[in-house]
Amino acid sequence: MITFNYLEMKRTLIIVLLLVTGVSKGADMKVGIASRPITPPLPFWMSGYAVRNAPSTEVLHDIWAKAMVIEKNEKNRVVIVTTDLLGLSPEISEGIAQRVEKKHGVDRSQLLLNSSHTHCGPAVWPSLSMIFDFSPEDQRKAVNYNLKLIEDIVDIIDSAFAKLTPMQLWSGHGSTDFAMNRRQPTDHGIINGINPKGPVDHDVPVLIAKTPDGKIRAILFGYACHNTTLGGNSINISGDYAGFAQIELQKAYPEATALFFIGCAGDQNPQPRGTVDLAMQHGKSLTDAVQKVLLSNNLKPIYPPIRTAYQKVSLGFQSFNIDSCRSDILSSDIFKQRRAKLMLEAYNKNWDISEYTYPLQVVRFNRDLTILAMGDEVVVDYSLKMKKKYRNENLFVAGYCNQVMCYIPSKRVLEEGGYEAETSMIYYGLPGPFKNEIEDRITIAVSKLMKEVGVKTSKNNK
Ligand SMILES: [Zn+2]
Repeated sequence: MITFNYLEMKRTLIIVLLLVTGVSKGADMKVGIASRPITPPLPFWMSGYAVRNAPSTEVLHDIWAKAMVIEKNEKNRVVIVTTDLLGLSPEISEGIAQRVEKKHGVDRSQLLLNSSHTHCGPAVWPSLSMIFDFSPEDQRKAVNYNLKLIEDIVDIIDSAFAKLTPMQLWSGHGSTDFAMNRRQPTDHGIINGINPKGPVDHDVPVLIAKTPDGKIRAILFGYACHNTTLGGNSINISGDYAGFAQIELQKAYPEATALFFIGCAGDQNPQPRGTVDLAMQHGKSLTDAVQKVLLSNNLKPIYPPIRTAYQKVSLGFQSFNIDSCRSDILSSDIFKQRRAKLMLEAYNKNWDISEYTYPLQVVRFNRDLTILAMGDEVVVDYSLKMKKKYRNENLFVAGYCNQVMCYIPSKRVLEEGGYEAETSMIYYGLPGPFKNEIEDRITIAVSKLMKEVGVKTSKNNK
């Protein structure tokens, strides 16, 4: 009896020690990482700028899809995919989600798909389809690229699952200041320019996965800035500054995969911009910010459980104006003409063009890290607001998640007008602008998702 009690006490002591040090929790997590280039076969039309009048024929550097699976068990896991693309369509995201659910039982809320919004990537049809005048051959290539993209991303997710090994996650934050607000006030309203006094979010969130012997295998990092150092005159495929940052980080940590996700960059541009050298310079600034985080003593361990929530919210458009559509169809502006044609067709066929379906997602690791993943081109007001509202959380805010089919303005941006509020809708082929309630609807939906993953609304979180 005496021996039994002694063993019991020893076992209890070990368990208490493990819980206090967190060793048992950390050892429970497994991480798998896989990647592959998704550079299109050239020549191929690029997306992002309406001024381009020829397809790309050269590659500056390959663009990539990268997957990181983080798992404790089937109920506690997340699959994070980053892509060097302008944005994904719902058709592509749902195509991937359905296959991954069938193969691995991954729930929709456990799959987070981000695109870097590089303007030097391939056209991902039908996003921004108003800027293209595809020949039947171009159209065939665009559809084939989409199908291959779904296959490639499902493949890397399969590989990441096959490579799951015990790892410890750590997170930290750095900063760099090359992102600048681009909504420049003028006597003629807001233009796309520079606004040094406008709101910015210079946070560089970092999440790393390390093997038990301390080797870094994955570096997930973010920044809220349009991937537009290179302008419309650039017709070489690349990931822009984010592509260079990932390349630099993988040179510095050859055993690691660097995965970039973009934040609420809707109204943020890199400055200065216009050349490959500047794209490399901004990539280097971002790499330096990440490395500073990795070398600091401020990394925080991240533990399970992993809770996830996903919701699609309906966002209303302001009332559709058939008269302006009729005049736009006679406009000399080809983009207005194309949008009007699409809207009139929808109107005459009684398709609902009064609402937009918007995806929101939250991933929370214990009380250690919360990732808010917002769809589309979200303006920076949202990340600043959410970081203030959920200041007790270690919050990463990602934009351009799960789909990129329009801008998401805040109430302020809608009231001010300009590209992100109104004119961008022409190129995206949407009736627009959104109703003023957009920000409130999104804020309420985020609160609901936060609650689902266990975020308590404290006095500080109001
Ligand atoms: Zn954009």
